[in-house]
Amino acid sequence: MSSYIDETYDIYDETWRRAIKPHVCEACERCIAKGERYARIFILFNGEKEALVRCVGCQTIHEHLRTLDPGEMWPDERLNCGEEYTKHWDKEPPPLIAALAFATPDEAELIRFRTAAWTQFRYARRAWWTP
Ligand SMILES: [Zn+2]
Repeated sequence: MSSYIDETYDIYDETWRRAIKPHVCEACERCIAKGERYARIFILFNGEKEALVRCVGCQTIHEHLRTLDPGEMWPDERLNCGEEYTKHWDKEPPPLIAALAFATPDEAELIRFRTAAWTQFRYARRAWWTP
């Protein structure tokens, strides 16, 4: 599902944008229509630059995956690891995260809004309990 972290990106810059022209999500390959929000990711790693875009649903999945083993695992940037969530994490994905796979852009925005609270709660909880 992800890569073990043994190195870190030199730059990892994630920004939210609203499309002024169509883009293609580089994770699910869905067309991001004009007017839709999307995440643009700029990466600098070992002198190599890379920029990619993810739709709201894929960005939300990516952010969720980061919470599963923070500091140890980092999700594939295109969510293209070839592994199944259930097999890798030995549990089902949360229902809202699973629903993102088939969500329309509007539904993905709604799911993102609903999942943000518990994602931040998980982060906060880990930070609180981590010595
Ligand atoms: Zn996508």
